[in-house]
Amino acid sequence: MSGDNRRSKRRDRRGGGAVRRPVSSYQDPTRRLVYVAAEGAKTEGDYIALLNRAYGAEKKFHLHFCRHGDPNGLRPVEVVKRVLAAAQRPDDEKWALFDRDSGDKTPEDIREAMRLAAEHGVHVALSHPSFELWLLLHFKQHTSRESGRSTTVLDRLRAHPDAAGFADYASQSGDRGKGLGDRRERALLGREKTAIDNARALVALCPHPSGGCSARHLTKIEPIPGPRSETKETYEEWNRRTGHAATCDPVQRDPSADVWRLLVRSASERTKRSNRTNSFRSANRTD
Ligand SMILES: [Zn+2]
Repeated sequence: MSGDNRRSKRRDRRGGGAVRRPVSSYQDPTRRLVYVAAEGAKTEGDYIALLNRAYGAEKKFHLHFCRHGDPNGLRPVEVVKRVLAAAQRPDDEKWALFDRDSGDKTPEDIREAMRLAAEHGVHVALSHPSFELWLLLHFKQHTSRESGRSTTVLDRLRAHPDAAGFADYASQSGDRGKGLGDRRERALLGREKTAIDNARALVALCPHPSGGCSARHLTKIEPIPGPRSETKETYEEWNRRTGHAATCDPVQRDPSADVWRLLVRSASERTKRSNRTNSFRSANRTD
């Protein structure tokens, strides 16, 4: 167990820091509560806050971001443990966001985290090479293989004429460098459909040698059966939720950006409940 998780557990016991009162008690009960943890300390948290502010009330969801104080970020398996520690019940909806980034983690780090997530009913949004690919997909498609290095993705994000505010993204240290302040947020908002379409297209381009990877028929993101459920999934069944083939190795999904699944899931309940169109709904179409 990591130092961060030990610290979280200590906070839990003391009743300070981590939330002991059920998170659901802070929220409008008509909103779907989703627990999200990520390896980064800044960008992903800002992005989750952006989704809550922009769409949470209308689409009746609240993404509870499980913050951590480690400036170096969590390892993928720690991200999964973080969301498991924060969720209140086994059947709470849980998401773990992490990236391939070959600079600071091994293929086995990714596979270990995927296995743990599958075992405990956690959705994974893997970004390959980095979360910033998901941001870039809001502005343009990006299909070239990066072997886990984010340099090209960052260069293209900074250089894109519509990515206002991103010109100096991650070029400064501290929160300002990788945060999503007002200008960057405005540049991203309203482009979700483009990002989802681009990310879904990447699944079909997956270099898995036997093929079979496609998000085309993934029109609805179903909740994962709880870990105590008799209908518990196998790893292969869980893996298919991403659109990738049952045997597709996550480390080889280059490039990919699974965050689209979180947005489709966030919108699908609302679509089912109200039968109204909404800005994400076009992403649920069968194309
Ligand atoms: Zn694949």
